[in-house]
Amino acid sequence: MIGAVDIGGTKIAVGVVDDNGKVLARMQAPTDPDRYTDGLKLIASMLRETAEKAGTQLSGIGIGSTGPVDPLRGEFGDVDFLPGWRGKNLVKDLAQIFSLRVALENDGDAAALAEAGWGAGQNRSRLIYVTVGTGIGGGMVFDGKLYRGVDGAHPEVGHHVVDPAGPKCSCGFRGCWESLAAGPAMATWLEANVPEGYPHREGITAKKICELAQQGDAVALQAVEHEAYYLGLGLANLINLFTPDAIVLSGSVMKSAPLFLDRIGEVIRRGCRFVPAEKTQLTLASLGDDTNLIGAARVWHYRFAGGGQR
Ligand SMILES: [Zn+2]
Repeated sequence: MIGAVDIGGTKIAVGVVDDNGKVLARMQAPTDPDRYTDGLKLIASMLRETAEKAGTQLSGIGIGSTGPVDPLRGEFGDVDFLPGWRGKNLVKDLAQIFSLRVALENDGDAAALAEAGWGAGQNRSRLIYVTVGTGIGGGMVFDGKLYRGVDGAHPEVGHHVVDPAGPKCSCGFRGCWESLAAGPAMATWLEANVPEGYPHREGITAKKICELAQQGDAVALQAVEHEAYYLGLGLANLINLFTPDAIVLSGSVMKSAPLFLDRIGEVIRRGCRFVPAEKTQLTLASLGDDTNLIGAARVWHYRFAGGGQR
């Protein structure tokens, strides 16, 4: 039974996950971005409470966190959302409090490990996990090993440039995949291109656009077409660069995947002619809304129990 800690910019989810990736108990609380010590106390008390709810004792703790984090030292890096956590070592602190082994990964990597081990990526030896929500993130698991960059760094799939004339991105470039194809980009595009008098413009969201498109709304369908085109370009780039067996798609925007998949397939077929793109399976994540929490638990298995070391 692993205590799982999923740290996001706005909330911390904590749970107990069994050896098959099943969540036995969970709870969550808002993240305090400035006060690390309060955050640590909160996480410790939620771990105790969920273990009690699940009627079990924890045998280890896994953490997935919004990046950048140093997975091997266990330290928080320059995380925009969590200025007060910078340089703090949650791995050491939780290990000391609970006398257990603790492992940390970036949350995209944690979710990739979960889908590779317990989800849609099982039996795939070259797997790329992509999550499309308020941003685009992901992780890569090749031959059972999490791909790490220099010094353990986590590659940022959302920040490859798709259109240098595109919108400004928080990273410094223009036209990153994230700035063109994450959920907020859909709303921004619609707001900029909507005809006068369109009744749904005010406060439109990606979710609302997908709902309207399902009802046949012509403007929303255009936004969906635009979104699918840019999703397709980014996925085509990943296929050209890595020729993976599978790309596992997750995140809030992908809850409406049927709206996008045909067009994505067309874009990939048009632009991936020198690689066997038809052999890359696009598949939806199978672990549901708790993927990140389950991923946090999988991080522990990956680090200490040989999980993913096929
Ligand atoms: Zn960027």
